[in-house]
Amino acid sequence: MSAPSRVVVAGASAAGLSVAETLRREGFDGRITLLGEESLPPYDRPPLSKEILSGTWPDERVWLRDEATIAGLGLDLRLGARAVGADAAARSVTLADGSAIGYDELVIATGVRPRRLPGTDGVAGVHVLRTLDDARGLRDALAAKPRLVIVGAGFLGAEVASVARTAGASVTLVSDLEAPLSDVLGPDLGELLIGLHRERGVEIITGTLVQEVLSAGGHANGVRLADGRVIEADAVLVSIGSVPNVDWLAGSGIETGNGVLCDEFCQAGPGVWAAGDVASWVHPGLGERIRIEHRTNAAEQGMAVARNILGAAKPFAPVPYIWSDQYDRKIQIYGLPRGADTFAVTEGSLADRKLVALYGKNDVVRAAVGVNMVRPARLARALVASPTAWTAAVSKEGVTA
Ligand SMILES: Cc1cc2nc3c(=O)[nH]c(=O)nc-3n(C[C@H](O)[C@H](O)[C@H](O)COP(=O)(O)OP(=O)(O)OC[C@H]3O[C@@H](n4cnc5c(N)ncnc54)[C@H](O)[C@@H]3O)c2cc1C
Repeated sequence: MSAPSRVVVAGASAAGLSVAETLRREGFDGRITLLGEESLPPYDRPPLSKEILSGTWPDERVWLRDEATIAGLGLDLRLGARAVGADAAARSVTLADGSAIGYDELVIATGVRPRRLPGTDGVAGVHVLRTLDDARGLRDALAAKPRLVIVGAGFLGAEVASVARTAGASVTLVSDLEAPLSDVLGPDLGELLIGLHRERGVEIITGTLVQEVLSAGGHANGVRLADGRVIEADAVLVSIGSVPNVDWLAGSGIETGNGVLCDEFCQAGPGVWAAGDVASWVHPGLGERIRIEHRTNAAEQGMAVARNILGAAKPFAPVPYIWSDQYDRKIQIYGLPRGADTFAVTEGSLADRKLVALYGKNDVVRAAVGVNMVRPARLARALVASPTAWTAAVSKEGVTA
């Protein structure tokens, strides 16, 4: 393979920026075109549901790099430039303005967008949370201490519930699951986290779908549940998962499904790679195809792709990591607890809501989760990083609750 001289990165956020920076750090001096649909410089998303929503940070703190650092990368940076098509055979990307850019290597880092409830487009008071504008809009709504209904009780919904409640909103969290967060963390930790919300006065409605958002005069004023109940609201947040941004690749010759389908090197075909939330790849350690919507993964996968473009030929096999802040608890998750068949608290206790727990599958440790135990949780990561027998791990660490 001859050395590439033109790299196009579609998506100018955590993963895309990481690709560009790593290419430069590794000595690549060719052209890097970084395409961003939004007109803002690359910014970080985790603070949107935390410090930006609560107003504890000024908005400018979300920029991933300052202007001078971005300029120093010598990029062909195009903001407000949406990629609308690609041709893998001709190695070119088309932009919304009709122009085309040729590439030797294309990195797809277009992330995901929120799933929406049908019939809510253009209804005032209905929010999703993915962009800085979304966060500003929801923050403005919270200033009026509204009756907020949150549809979907995953991490995003739970984090917003925590900020909104602290800001004095009255909050109802509606989940289609009987035990929200248990699908990811199992019943014990799921219950622990939901308990935090209940204690703070969040009303939690489980095991039911929101059928429709109700409105009057173009403004949301409640939701109707599948069982017929109506919950009145001044604002509604829809946090029911996300959809990978791959539509623009239709007819490109690049294989997509639940994301861009890549091999273990994060390569989707000759000269085509993917990184971040949009990338579905075969994790060699887990032996599974996965797609991860985690901030750390976006940066690490961006680095891995850049190095592979430059010839490293290294499979991407990270220990997935996510954190979440809810009230005064910091939750850290190393590995993938979903689907585990064994669970043990090895430090601290459920009663204290301060602990490290291990999750196993097929007698191997698959994940370690910490609640307000940052260092011990980080140490437990080692049990996930290399295959560790369940019995050996639990007898060494001990079981405390
Ligand atoms: C509110 C919120 C809170 C979060 N909290 C946490 C957390 O606590 N911990 C954690 O680990 N993760 C968290 N995440 C997830 C984390 O932010 C993502 O994993 C990370 O942003 C993924 O980066 P990315 O670059 O892959 O995708 P994105 O950040 O989605 O960036 C993709 C970029 O591509 C652009 N784009 C899309 N289509 C096109 C196109 N056709 N042409 C050009 N550009 C395009 C988009 O505008 C976007 O800027 C959170 C996410 C959100 C939204």
